[in-house]
Amino acid sequence: MSLKTLLPGSTSATGQQITLGVMGGGQLGRMFVQAAQAMGYFTAVLDPDTASPAGLLSHFHIQTAYGDEQGLAQLMQRCDAITTEFENVPAPALVTLGAHRPVAPSATAVAVAQDRLAEKAHFVACAPLSGVSPAPHAAIENAAQLAAVPADLLPGILKTARLGYDGKGQVRVATREALAAAWQQLGEVTCVLEKMLPLRAECSVLVARGADGQVVAFPVQKNTHHEGILALTEVYPGAVSAALAERATASTVAIAHHLHYVGVLCVEYFVVDDGQGGQDLIVNEMAPRPHNSGHYTQDACDVSQFQAQVRTLAGLPLTTPRQHSPAIMVNLLGELWFAPNAVRAQASEQPVSPPWAQLLALPGVHLHLYGKLSARPGRKMGHLNITAATVAEVRETAAQALTLLGLPALDA
Ligand code: ATP
Ligand code: MG
Repeated sequence: MSLKTLLPGSTSATGQQITLGVMGGGQLGRMFVQAAQAMGYFTAVLDPDTASPAGLLSHFHIQTAYGDEQGLAQLMQRCDAITTEFENVPAPALVTLGAHRPVAPSATAVAVAQDRLAEKAHFVACAPLSGVSPAPHAAIENAAQLAAVPADLLPGILKTARLGYDGKGQVRVATREALAAAWQQLGEVTCVLEKMLPLRAECSVLVARGADGQVVAFPVQKNTHHEGILALTEVYPGAVSAALAERATASTVAIAHHLHYVGVLCVEYFVVDDGQGGQDLIVNEMAPRPHNSGHYTQDACDVSQFQAQVRTLAGLPLTTPRQHSPAIMVNLLGELWFAPNAVRAQASEQPVSPPWAQLLALPGVHLHLYGKLSARPGRKMGHLNITAATVAEVRETAAQALTLLGLPALDA
């Protein structure tokens, strides 16, 4: 069903409060729910986890599997429009929902983002428009394709076509033997082998596109990953060169238009040397939803990525986001609850919260915790958004916060 305007605080034809639904109850769903509620909407979350971060806050929490027909029926009965917060929602569930309710992004767009091969094919198709190509790669679906891999893709990274996230489902391989072993290790599922590129930097771009085709872009984010997981995002003038930022933004807009995308879309890029003393962009992957690298928008922009998601889903106008403060976002991963950081002399078995009071004593530190009941290494527990009046100040405060957390310092 196509989107219509759903004004906040109004009632639907059946007399119930206008309710926005989300498939998935993780932190992204939680921050969507917070943004929707702040604007006066009722919310519903479908997630099997009784303690899901979004389910804990939502007006309605339907606790079934994502493909459960009764659960989907309940969600449709409750909701006037439905979005998703993670790309591994089964596409058939979105098709079912989309037959009866407006769903954004569409099942088709989510299906492309769910499959690295379909995603890369989309990027290749967009390249004449976007001006940016994906890394050299090859599909590996069977032993014949494995044997036929061109030598110049090695060393490379073997990635499962589906269900990868935070560097999971990936193996770095240097030789044909290692490649064969890695494919076996990954269960001989459909994979893509990507050439390992010497990355100068990584960046990402968020856009929001309405059902009418209007698109707005957020400022370009510079990202630092540790062990395949996003650690830091920096957004301020000079974090990414103006020329690269312009290209990345134009590319992302083209990718969104070409998919007839409705909602918030994030596209990740690699910055590499162009071999002529300059820098070039390679498109890595996309997320059909708000993205961890866009969290800084909550405190540094006049429209957050979650507010933009609400607007696209409710058919409300989109305004060009304006960043009012230089920003650095620091991810708070579960290991910080166990880390032998500057404050605590020894790693303990019992989780201990990071030094919140000291962190919050720093000016411009905004703490976001997702309400997860237990900390585990690698688990995204929350993030800090750090804002300041100047680039020098935001970097100085971030340096202090990183020291307090026992995390590596910012790059020069
Ligand atoms: P996400 O959490 O973003 O969904 P993911 O598990 O889908 O992550 P990718 O984004 O493909 O994985 O890769 C994770 C990280 O690994 C990248 O951000 C980058 O640092 C590194 N990486 C991935 N592919 C390559 C490559 N071809 N060359 C060099 N580094 C790469
Ligand atoms: Mg990624």
